[in-house]
Amino acid sequence: MPKIPYGRQHIDDDDIQAVADALRSDFLTTGPRIGEFEKSVATFSNAKFGVAVSNGTAALHAAMFALGIGPGDEVIVPPMTFAATANCILYMGGTPVFADVDPHTLLLDPCKAEAAISDRTKAIIAVDYTGQPCDWDALNTLGEKHGLATVADGCHALGATLNSRKVGSLADMTVYSFHPVKHVATGEGGMILTNDQELDNSLRNFRNHGITTDARTREEAGAWFYEMQELGYNYRMTDIQAALGVSQMKKLPAFLDRRREIAARYDKEFAGTNVRPLDVRSGVEHAYHLYVVRISDRDEVYKQLREAGIFTQVHYIPVHLHPYYRKHLGTAEGLCPVAEQAYAEILSLPMYPDLTDDEQSYVIKQVLEAV
Ligand SMILES: *Cc1c(COP(=O)(O)O)cnc(C)c1O
Repeated sequence: MPKIPYGRQHIDDDDIQAVADALRSDFLTTGPRIGEFEKSVATFSNAKFGVAVSNGTAALHAAMFALGIGPGDEVIVPPMTFAATANCILYMGGTPVFADVDPHTLLLDPCKAEAAISDRTKAIIAVDYTGQPCDWDALNTLGEKHGLATVADGCHALGATLNSRKVGSLADMTVYSFHPVKHVATGEGGMILTNDQELDNSLRNFRNHGITTDARTREEAGAWFYEMQELGYNYRMTDIQAALGVSQMKKLPAFLDRRREIAARYDKEFAGTNVRPLDVRSGVEHAYHLYVVRISDRDEVYKQLREAGIFTQVHYIPVHLHPYYRKHLGTAEGLCPVAEQAYAEILSLPMYPDLTDDEQSYVIKQVLEAV
C-alpha cells in the first residue's frame, strides 16, 4: 500500500552538496550564507530586507517585538491558522483579538477585522492561508485609516502574487517558515521581510540577544565592544540551514509550477462533485502550500483515506478553540462562526512537488470513492 503524506520536502544532490560545502567552510553559523539566503528570498519576494531566523514562529515573535507590542496592546488575527500566528502576540504580553474569515476563501475578512478594532489595537496579522494572498488593499487601507501596522503571515504563500505584486511586498512585514512541508525547506527556519530600515535593524537585534550589530559603531569603539540594548533571544539561523535554503531557492520556480499543476488537476477532477475546493479570488496567483477541500462527513473520509495510505490533515482547528485559549482568554464556540463551520468540513489533500501523476490519480480516485 502507498504511503502518501499531505506535504513533504524535495531534497536532491545539489542540496546535499550545498550543505556539505557549508560543513567544510569556516562558518557553521553567522557566516556569509545567511546574507546570501536573505538576499535570495528578499529579491525573489520584491522586498528590501530579509532577516533569517531559526523558525517561522521566531519570525512572528520578532515581528511583534519590532512593532513594540506589549501589555495592553491588541493585535487582530484570524482563527483559521496555526496557533503560532496568535501565540507571538502573547509572547510580547499583548492580546490577540480574533476576527472571522471569509466563508469562500477562509482568509481574514477585512470587514470583520475593522469591526474588531478598538483604541488599543496596534496591528493586524493576516494569514495568506493555503497560499492565497489576503485582500491586502483593504487591510492596508484599514491600517492607514486607524494607524495600525500590517503583518502578513506568509508561511503558506512564498511565491504567490496579488495583481502581479509579490507576497513579501504587500504588508509592512511578511513572515515565512522553511519547515519541510513549506515551499522551501531548511529543516527549521524562518524569515521576516520588510522595506523599513528601522524594522530591519530591530529584527536583527532581536534575533541576536538584543545586541547592536552596527559594525561601524563597534569599529569606532574597538572591535571587541558590544552592548545589549534590548531583551532579545538567540533566534539565529545556522549557515548549514542557509546553505540548504540558497540551494532550494534555485528550485522554487519549478516547485511552484508543479504545485500549480497538481492544483489544476484536482480542480478539474473535482469540478461538479461534492468535493469543494476553496475559492480563489481574481488577481491571485496561488502558491498552493495546501490544497484544501470542503466535504461533508469529513471525519469518515479522513479515516477511509488513512486506511488507503493517504495521510491527509486538517488545517486548522480554529485557534480560539484550543484549550489554552479557552482557559486564558476565555474564548469559546460562537466567537468566529464562519471558521468554526469550515473547521468541520475542511481537509488538506496531498500537495507537494514530488507527488507523482500516478499517486495523484490514486488520491483522486480514493477521495471520490470515499465521498
Ligand atoms: C508553519 C507555520 C508557522 C510556523 O512556522 P514554524 O517554522 O513551524 O515555526 C506559522 N504560521 C503558519 C500559518 C504556518 O503554516
